[in-house]
Amino acid sequence: MKVLKFGGSSVADASRLRAAARIVERQLDGCPGGGAVVVSALGGVTDRLLALAAGAVEGNGGDEPAREAAALRDHHLKIAAEVAAEADLADLSAAIDELCDGLVRELDDCARAGVTPERPRGAWIDRIVCHGELLSTRLLAAALRARGLPAEARDARPLVRTDRSFQAAQVALEPTMDAIASHFAGIGEDGPLQVVTGFLGSTPEGATTTLGRSGSDLTASLVGAALDAEQIEIWTDVPGVMTADPRRVEDALPIPRLSYEEMLELSHFGAKVVYPPTVTPARRKAIPLLVRSTLDPEHPGTLVDGTRDRERARGTAVTGISSIDDVHLMLLVGDNLVGTPGVAARLFDALRRAAPARS
Ligand code: ADP
Ligand code: ASP
Ligand code: MG
Repeated sequence: MKVLKFGGSSVADASRLRAAARIVERQLDGCPGGGAVVVSALGGVTDRLLALAAGAVEGNGGDEPAREAAALRDHHLKIAAEVAAEADLADLSAAIDELCDGLVRELDDCARAGVTPERPRGAWIDRIVCHGELLSTRLLAAALRARGLPAEARDARPLVRTDRSFQAAQVALEPTMDAIASHFAGIGEDGPLQVVTGFLGSTPEGATTTLGRSGSDLTASLVGAALDAEQIEIWTDVPGVMTADPRRVEDALPIPRLSYEEMLELSHFGAKVVYPPTVTPARRKAIPLLVRSTLDPEHPGTLVDGTRDRERARGTAVTGISSIDDVHLMLLVGDNLVGTPGVAARLFDALRRAAPARS
């Protein structure tokens, strides 16, 4: 069994969605135990929803958000008409309409009711932003059905259990693994291919949460770990993890193999191709992660696994270079710092207290 994850740029328009569906068909063909697909919102949609949500929590209702919500509806309906089989289109369009009606209601409610202790700012934002993945899963499932693959969209909120840190929720690993495993056991190997919303989760009270920007990678790793997948494939717009950010370094090269530790380090320090928390569930179950390009599906990409570094002939001293923008360097000086216990603890505690609240 394999888990395949497609990021926003890999499902940005109708032709990319169709290409993603072709990749799913090819990768799962004859795959023992079948597979599961995880998908992000269509490219650019999460940013647009976040902008809408930012206005709504400030109480801005009216024409402008209504126009933008209508534009989002049109965008998805137009792509639906291009990817769905004719017999599927009426149901798909009705489902998109229903989700977009829900989005408009949410925006109105938020602008009118505003932020309260029961529903803080982040909770409203997650209720709004979740529509990106709820919509994209419908489209990819339809594109798969159009190729003759029985597929259905799956809202992952009841499966991915989190705390209440809205917009960057922490996953409760064991309950999540159990919920995913029992959902898939219920579907069975002969059931429809599950096209799962990346990025989304819910609190024990059922409030919608999101896992942080790029969180769909983590969803794929959770699904893979819960189902003991043979591999987790992260399909993106570059041919693997590269020696540097290809947007900054023209001649960056794909890295054929990485250890989990190297992947963690590179992603933690800025290689945004894989969301850092993604590594942990896969590593726990020793499941290889593959990073591959939807633009170049023949390219082998990067294999990330537990193989020890020294067992590999890499031929280079440096694995890769990553970078982070807007880092602040702080220098704390003082005569009494050395040998005074508790200074570091006070410093880090002060930084924690100063961090912006997430709920
Ligand atoms: P997706 O939409 O598929 O989730 P992301 O935009 O999150 O894709 O991640 C892919 C992007 O990560 C690439 O387009 C690239 O610009 C950027 N990136 C930054 N550092 C690296 C790196 N070391 N290797 C590959 N891509 C990188
Ligand atoms: N759609 C979300 C984002 O843009 C999650 C993801 O792409 O992984 O951050
Ligand atoms: Mg990403």
